[in-house]
Amino acid sequence: MIDDKHNMPRAETLQKKILVIPGDGIGPEVTRWGRRVLEAVAEKFGHTFEFDEALMGHAAIEATGNPLPDETLEKARQSDAILFGAIGHPKYDQDPQLKVRPEQGLLRIRKELGLYANLRPIKLFDELLAASSIKPEVLQGADILFFRELTGDVYFGEKKRADDNSWASDLMIYHAYEVERIAHKAFETARQRRKKLCSVDKANVLESSRLWRSTVQRIAAAYPDVQCTHMFVDNAAMQLIRDPRQFDVILTSNLFGDILTDEASQIAGSMGMLASASLGDGTGLYEPIHGSAPDIAGKGVANPLASILSAALMLQVGFQLQEEADAVWRAVEQVLRKGYRTLDIADKHTENNMIVGTDGMGQQVIQQLVHA
Ligand code: NAD
Repeated sequence: MIDDKHNMPRAETLQKKILVIPGDGIGPEVTRWGRRVLEAVAEKFGHTFEFDEALMGHAAIEATGNPLPDETLEKARQSDAILFGAIGHPKYDQDPQLKVRPEQGLLRIRKELGLYANLRPIKLFDELLAASSIKPEVLQGADILFFRELTGDVYFGEKKRADDNSWASDLMIYHAYEVERIAHKAFETARQRRKKLCSVDKANVLESSRLWRSTVQRIAAAYPDVQCTHMFVDNAAMQLIRDPRQFDVILTSNLFGDILTDEASQIAGSMGMLASASLGDGTGLYEPIHGSAPDIAGKGVANPLASILSAALMLQVGFQLQEEADAVWRAVEQVLRKGYRTLDIADKHTENNMIVGTDGMGQQVIQQLVHA
């Protein structure tokens, strides 16, 4: 195909099936804008994205009794990528004894689709320097890519509780193959970036971390061009806030990654800014790192940018559409530069914010994207 204006070969147009799983709480509110952005990209660049929707989490339990209905799993398997919102409802948070729970849906879909690597880019838009509670001079230029392992650890190890509730335990277990496959993905990506990888563990105390560390050391030998360092998780938690610019790729386990990336969200200004990709060897799942935020659900104030940036990650990583992904990033950057802010990223030091709700922010990004 030829681009008429520039008389240059035009990149091939793609046909993709995208499953949207809005989920619970603010999930549907923000995912709507992730989807709208994908629709706008398809139109602008001549791709055909075919959308379908499915239930998961509390919404699915209410409708079917099952947090991951078979129909959702079947649709997920048949799609090229999944755009997911969030799951969770206060009912379950207040009663940990409830046996059927929303998060079982998410854990199971990750397991069923073999999604073992969770990529979480932590990149601060310069326009949001003032939104963070960390000093701008510490933050400026921070650009970290987390690889959080997703299929092992205490999340999936055996769980026990004494009948008389006097003790409980969660087994922290890792298999070498689980560490190997995510380590390869992380080292390969580090090669495309600043060639620096920091593996985070607790090898001074935990046997599973000692296996983690020796496995990463073995894999590192195959990537001599990447500088590999190791850090204990307690130190990493401190270093992230003290000097985030020292990191490029961070490779870590399921539990440590869960906690560290929430902490790192403050580098990007808000949970509402952070996208993630859960990858295996087939269909990937793209989602904000935040949860269903029941405290703001239904109020129209949730920041949709994490969902919009998850859509950009889908374009970049899932479909290898770098130009399209860059267009979405630029649109977000422009909207922030013009001063539009949802409440979570408002600059507390100025009166010049233009505060918008979820839909206002979504509309601004679409307008910017379409008219750029
Ligand atoms: P949360 O991420 O939902 O919210 C934490 C805080 O960040 C809240 O104050 C919330 O208002 C704010 N926040 C989150 N996303 C925002 C956005 N887009 N815009 C503006 N502010 C935003 O975490 P939580 O409160 O610990 O958990 C709430 C529920 O979500 C629980 O049921 C939990 O199990 C579930 N959860 C789900 C996922 C997921 O689906 N992947 C992840 C984490 C938590």
